[in-house]
Amino acid sequence: SLSEKLQDVFKKLRGKGKLTEKDIKEAMKEVKLALLEADVNYKVVKDFINTVTQKAVGEEVLESLTPAQQVIKIVYDEMVNLLGGSDTKLTFSPSGFSIYMMVGLQGSGKTTTAGKLAGLLKKQGKNPSLVACDIYRPAAIKQLEVVAQKVGVKCYADYTSQDAVKIAKDGIEFAKSNRSDVVIIDTAGRLHINQELMDELKNIKNAVKPTEILLVVDAMTGQDAVNVAEAFNDQLGIDGIIMTKLDGDTRGGAALSVKAITGKPIKFAGVGEKMEDLEVFHPDRMASRILGMGDVLTLIEKAQEAIDQKKAEELEKKLRSMQFTLEDFLDQLKQIKKMGPLSQIISMIPGIKLKGDVDFDAGEKELKKIEAIINSMTKEERQDPSIINSSRKRRIAMGSGTTVQDVNRLLKQFEDMKRMMKQFSNPSFAKKGKFKFP
Ligand code: GDP
Ligand code: MG
Repeated sequence: SLSEKLQDVFKKLRGKGKLTEKDIKEAMKEVKLALLEADVNYKVVKDFINTVTQKAVGEEVLESLTPAQQVIKIVYDEMVNLLGGSDTKLTFSPSGFSIYMMVGLQGSGKTTTAGKLAGLLKKQGKNPSLVACDIYRPAAIKQLEVVAQKVGVKCYADYTSQDAVKIAKDGIEFAKSNRSDVVIIDTAGRLHINQELMDELKNIKNAVKPTEILLVVDAMTGQDAVNVAEAFNDQLGIDGIIMTKLDGDTRGGAALSVKAITGKPIKFAGVGEKMEDLEVFHPDRMASRILGMGDVLTLIEKAQEAIDQKKAEELEKKLRSMQFTLEDFLDQLKQIKKMGPLSQIISMIPGIKLKGDVDFDAGEKELKKIEAIINSMTKEERQDPSIINSSRKRRIAMGSGTTVQDVNRLLKQFEDMKRMMKQFSNPSFAKKGKFKFP
């Protein structure tokens, strides 16, 4: 799979230590092949590889302590970009009454997704109604009524009308009289895009002026899904894409291409046939899924750590001049927490070997406690702990749900640490990245 192939490329890179420009170009050739095989659009792949290569062969990366990790991070970041950057939310109408029109080819998952979306919005406190505008098959109307019932929302159906525009309008009146604030219109698809379909959808669009037109595409169809999206966007105009069947054996190509080709974001992902199988689409999570989640994420975090060298150097300066404050301490704690569970972090600290069973939960609790205590201090107190007298200690303990003894212990630890770190503060210390745990 794409995921496995990319992980293989990265594994090779990591095995190399120092990287040359040639290493990176070779790796990028393999990434390119993997993406093409996953059915990602050719132009998208070309641009992607160019951007990544350009960023990766820079001196900063090649000369860094962790070049392979930096390259992986660049691939990850660009992949997140390709998938749309940040999450794109559904727009609600400022009028308080939002109309969404589901469009797409037959079998893409419109009817199912209309129900799923109604269920999702209902969970968010909305009161959606569904409207059945697929007039060509009575079974299609029935199907929408069934999903409406499953998620517990009202459904407008007219088994006798042959006029989709009229049904859409009537459905909206029906929804209003039901005090709905959201209407989801299910429309008819075709096996292929044709003029008849587009005309029908344009007529509905002009009649109801939807807040958003959501195109439903089947991820399993790969580049076809992207072509379909392009055509719908050109001819009808769409606001967002819902990619279905991402639970199946998709190669990922459609998801990776569609934003770049159409400029329209994926807003939701269908991940199964059940009504709860609709997720808000998160580009960052999708990218980490494609790149092989856990392992890569930790590596990325390590890379970020290395990038934080500047911060480490600043810290070192502060230490040497003894300006290190509880505020910096809190900053450190937050960085540590970002790195993951304590057990893992401890295993990364050089020079520390664990004997027997260690109560990691207690460690996590201790970290939380320390954070709570520092959070309860004023800025002045964090910068100059010497002003913390007993009445301040009582206040801090109260505020953080701890005891005065806890506050005392933290202050002592902080002083000890400052003393200890002063001994360590030689110029190479921070640069080597050994400063991981206070
Ligand atoms: P429509 O013709 O566009 O209305 O498509 P339907 O809603 O009738 O869906 C077609 C088929 O795809 C049905 O069997 C659905 O259960 C299935 N389907 C829809 N979305 C998903 C999904 O996210 N994952 C999976 N595995 N199946 C889906
Ligand atoms: Mg349908």
